[in-house]
Formats: sequence, structure tokens, C-alpha cells
Amino acid sequence: MNLSGKTAIITGGSRGIGRAIALKLAEKGANIVVNYTSSPDKATEVVEQIKEMGREALAIKADVSKEEDVSSLVKEVSKQFSTIDILINNAGITKDTLLIRMKDDDWDRVLDVNLKGTYLCTKLVAKKMMKQRSGKIVNITSVVGIIGNAGQANYAASKAGVIGLTKSSAKELAARGVNVNAVAPGFIHSDMTDKLSDEVVENYAKNIPLGKMGDPEDVANAVAFLCSEEASYLTGQVLNVDGGMVM
Ligand code: NAD
Repeated sequence: MNLSGKTAIITGGSRGIGRAIALKLAEKGANIVVNYTSSPDKATEVVEQIKEMGREALAIKADVSKEEDVSSLVKEVSKQFSTIDILINNAGITKDTLLIRMKDDDWDRVLDVNLKGTYLCTKLVAKKMMKQRSGKIVNITSVVGIIGNAGQANYAASKAGVIGLTKSSAKELAARGVNVNAVAPGFIHSDMTDKLSDEVVENYAKNIPLGKMGDPEDVANAVAFLCSEEASYLTGQVLNVDGGMVM
């Protein structure tokens, strides 16, 4: 897998799965734009690590749920790099509670970041990729978007929406040489899951045939494959990275 000379934007790339993806794509040769919202120090750390690998890298602050932020992100990247070859829609949040207790604001915010954010970034970057007649977009969904999860109606709906968006944009963009796929992680070590109790983790692990939680690098490896030339005949697919949890 060789991504030399490619430019990749990773939304929410300063920590967790996004950070692992940023480092993996850089290891494969890509120049990296680390998008972040709240942790400039962590984003700068990732940028420094990537520069040490000999790649170009920069951190750009943008809330993916806001069109003006996404528009300035894409403008800034276009100023610094001649092409945008890879977009990883990784930014995501949870606001978990049972449906009957859910506040409308928590529904709206999760849908705004996870689904609208993916839509806005895809729309603005796809315009450039269509002109280039090439590009790879990978959306990070979740197995919860496929099977649902009690206490995560907003999150599951947003991730199911991401799958519909992936398939529709794959159909629209295929003729212009742009591949759009999704990766559905199962239960992966990150800030999002580290707050769960040992008991919850043990219960989840029981339902994972490979018997353990995944690491951010497991997701990053699948994403790197989907960004590579080796995956050029794949589009509109959802690749589960879940230790066999959903099959
Ligand atoms: P995380 O909380 O560590 O990372 C989420 C990232 O998104 C952070 O960098 C955060 O700053 C960023 N972000 C949040 N709101 C944003 C906004 N409005 N604009 C831009 N960036 C924003 O969690 P993670 O586990 O690394 O999650 C990464 C992705 O993987 C998410 O889409 C998540 O839904 C998905 N996922 C995670 C798991 C898991 O088990 N950890 C499972 C399935 C799917």
C-alpha cells in the first residue's frame, strides 16, 4: 500500500481512532490534515509526529457540524495542497440514554456531528475530487448503525444514516473516479469506550468471537486499505472491524 504524495483530511484526528488513522496514512506516505475541535495540543502532537516521519502535516480547527467551518477547512487545505485525495469522516460523539429519557438537544447534537458533519465534509470535498476525477472517502460508522443498541438510539440512527449516505454518495461519485466506503468498528479502546465500567466491557467481550476489544490501529489498517489503489474496485461497502461481533 503506497499513499505517497496523497493529501488526506482526517476529521477528529487528534485522538483515538482518528489519530491512529492519521499516523497510519502518514506511515503509508500521505500528507495529513488533522482536523480538531477542542484539543489543539493533542492535534499539534500528532502533526509533529507525522512531520518526524518526513511528511507534511497541519492541524486545522473546525466543527464539522457547521458549514462555515467545513468550508474554511476545505479552503485552507486547498491553499496548502494542490489536491485532496482522501477524506476520512471520523469525527463522532455519543450522548447515550434510553429513548424515553432522551433530550431533543442530545438527539440533535449527535445527528449534527455524526451525520450532518459527514454530509457537509463529503459534499465540499467531493466537489474537488470530482474535478480531479479521483478520490477516496471513508466514513467511520459503527456496528451499532447496523444492529442498533439500547441506550444509543441517537447514535445508532446517526451511524445508520452514515451507511445510507455512504451508499448514495458512492453511486453518485463512482463515474467521477471517487470511491466511497465505510468502516464499522465494533468495540474499540478509545476515550469513547474507556469511560465504561469493567463489567460493561466484560459483557461486551463475551459477544466478540475473537474474545477481546479492538485497538484503534485495527480500524486504521482497514481504512488504509480502503484508501489504497489495491481497493480501487470497492465502493459503497461497509467493512466491519469488530472481531466478528456482527456477521
Ligand atoms: P473519541 O471520542 O476519542 O474521538 C472522537 C473525535 O471526534 C475526537 O477527536 C473529537 O474531538 C472529534 N469531534 C467530536 N465532535 C467534533 C466536531 N463537531 N467536529 C470535529 N471533530 C469532532 O472516540 P473514537 O472512539 O476515537 O471515535 C472515532 C470514531 O469512531 C467516531 O465516529 C465513533 O463514533 C467511531 N466508533 C468508535 C467505536 C469505539 O468503540 N471506540 C466504535 C464504533 C465507532
